Amino acid sequence: MLQKLLNLTGLNRQSPYVKQYIYASNMRSSIVMSVVVIVLEIWMIVRMTRMWFRGELPNPFTYYLEKYYINYFLLLSAGLIMLIYALLFLREKTKHPWVGRCMMYAFSAICIYFGINISVGDYTKGEQMLTFLTMELFVVCLLVWRPVVGFLILTVSYGIYVYRISGLMPVSGAYSVLKNLSELTPDETYEKLQAVRAATGLSDATQINLFTMWLSTLLFCVSNYHMTLNQAIKDESLEEANRRLSDASIYDELTGIHNMFFFRSEAEKLIGYVTTDRDNIVFLYFDIENFKYYNEKYGFQAGNILLRDVAKLIEDSFPGSLVSRFSDDHFVVLTRYEGSSDVISSLGERIHGYQKDLHLDLKCGAYRPVGEDADLDPSVACDRARFACNSIKRHYKLNYQQYDKQLEERLRLKQYITNNLDEAIEKGHIEVFYQPIVSTADSTIVSLEALARWRDPVHGLLPPGLFIEILEEHRQIHKLDQCIIEQVCRDYRKAMDEGLPFAPVSLNFSRLDFELCDIVGFLQEKAAQYDVPQRYLDVEITESALTEQQSLLQEAMRKLRTAGYKVWLDDFGSGYSSLNVLKDYQFDVLKIDMKFLSGFEQNSKTRPILDNIVHLTRQLHMISLTEGVETQEQFEFLRSIGCERAQGYLFSKPVPLADLRVRIAKGELQIAEAYAQKTES
Ligand code: C2E
Ligand code: MG
Ligand code: MG
Repeated sequence: MLQKLLNLTGLNRQSPYVKQYIYASNMRSSIVMSVVVIVLEIWMIVRMTRMWFRGELPNPFTYYLEKYYINYFLLLSAGLIMLIYALLFLREKTKHPWVGRCMMYAFSAICIYFGINISVGDYTKGEQMLTFLTMELFVVCLLVWRPVVGFLILTVSYGIYVYRISGLMPVSGAYSVLKNLSELTPDETYEKLQAVRAATGLSDATQINLFTMWLSTLLFCVSNYHMTLNQAIKDESLEEANRRLSDASIYDELTGIHNMFFFRSEAEKLIGYVTTDRDNIVFLYFDIENFKYYNEKYGFQAGNILLRDVAKLIEDSFPGSLVSRFSDDHFVVLTRYEGSSDVISSLGERIHGYQKDLHLDLKCGAYRPVGEDADLDPSVACDRARFACNSIKRHYKLNYQQYDKQLEERLRLKQYITNNLDEAIEKGHIEVFYQPIVSTADSTIVSLEALARWRDPVHGLLPPGLFIEILEEHRQIHKLDQCIIEQVCRDYRKAMDEGLPFAPVSLNFSRLDFELCDIVGFLQEKAAQYDVPQRYLDVEITESALTEQQSLLQEAMRKLRTAGYKVWLDDFGSGYSSLNVLKDYQFDVLKIDMKFLSGFEQNSKTRPILDNIVHLTRQLHMISLTEGVETQEQFEFLRSIGCERAQGYLFSKPVPLADLRVRIAKGELQIAEAYAQKTES
């Protein structure tokens, strides 16, 4: 109720936008008002001067100067000043709204004052009070006043007007009759008339007319206010919606910094400026290493806070540069090359401050668009910086990499790999190398790991480190894994047909295989086609694969085990949730990651850790296998702690099956008794 009343009277608080809207609308109206006033006053001055020149004015010039000219000039000046200010305001050349406000009040007061004065004069001459009405309409209907203020202006001005004309009476007819009939001077005639008027009051009709005029101007004033106010509120909400929309299109919702849309368009503009020193710019791509594990360990909420903090940190570190969120935990910056490396290293140190018991690192890839094949397209430039950053992803000691010729070569190779996989499979360029896995009891081969190699006619023999990740990134890895499955099955069949020994083979499956195709169905199909017993095919799943796609993988593993295949956990201990994986899934073999052996000689903690893992494996009824065994000392130790199997360069690197056979034939390697003879049964 109170709110309604406040709304009606205009006493409620208004937003700065609404105030500004009303002010601007008043300034626009002031132009109309002042132009009309200026034209009128000029007309009045010209008219009076002409009459004076013609001798039509009975009194001396000084009489008219005092009574009319000064007023005309005053109004003309007020109109001119108001017009100039309003024009300056609308052209945004003045920034002091209080000056405009004061001028508006003064101008309105002057208008009403003259309106009253002139109409009082007209009234006494028996003419209509149109000037007063015009001025009232001008001031309260063209300008927007709060209803209360409008009410006050109208009531006071009507009050003054009524006060001044009450006791007067329009007698122009009587005046002229008296003037003609008597010998009285005009002033004497006027005095006599005043005496007559004093005895009379305002007629009822005039009173009613004046009241109606007051009421209708007030209503006009109120409705004008509400109309403008509603329009202002509507405009404000539209403006707000527009602002939100445009914010959403250029800002990243989570971090609050700019998004890539903004980055690309601004970078293009910036590079296009003649003043930009293109030799001194650099595109940076940042990646928070291990953010994924931070998210897993502390939850999305904490991950989001970290992203926000890092975004702010990067933005503050590069003031005046373009900073945007690229995606996930990746950010891009376009800045001056000079001095950027110092900022990058101090940023890296500050990121370490956020790590709890996880190692967080800020990796940075840089691209300088200089040289012959410099590319200034922001998308290409960011891509190159990203590629440089990705190239140091798992290098613990490297945090900064600039895009160079060598990297460019790798980028080409990446494109080559994705474009040529199908052809490579078709033409038989994908080969299987086998690496033996030996029993620690008697060093005989109990199993083989199938590892993919790409023998390319252009690039030579490519190790999986060069293509697995790329194929995963382009979601083509399942094609390679299907090709390896088929070759292994074919190798088994050939060995059986030729009466040669063959040991069970473990196949590496990518986590994406379960998403991209029915890999278990495919394995079953090929095993049936080549008549390979299930016990000859094992499946290795890396630990990192098990942190995602839980249900899909669980189901696939269940299918594999019920079909009779053994499932191995590869690279155990390389991630951050190794023990959880053991809790949630059932494996037959646990393959301990080779990083545990990397500091074997120097690090005294390695031995008890390995000892405990092997112990745990036994307790969980799994077979323990350590990969990356390179020295006899390591092997002896593994044997001493009861690790059942070992794999590594100590025995053999991954080699083609034929080479392995040669080494077995030479007696350098021995195959376990169970697989030494033709075993098909
Ligand atoms: P992984 O499954 O952990 O394979 C073991 C890797 O360690 C092999 O590298 C092997 O050559 C290497 N290695 C073995 N013994 C030693 C050693 O004593 N010292 C050292 N330094 N390294 C040793 P490779 O063949 O380059 O394979 C790398 C990774 O690529 C594999 O790691 C596996 O995750 C992946 N991969 C290989 N073939 C395939 C495949 O057919 N499909 C899928 N999805 N992944 C594959
Ligand atoms: Mg493996
Ligand atoms: Mg491994």
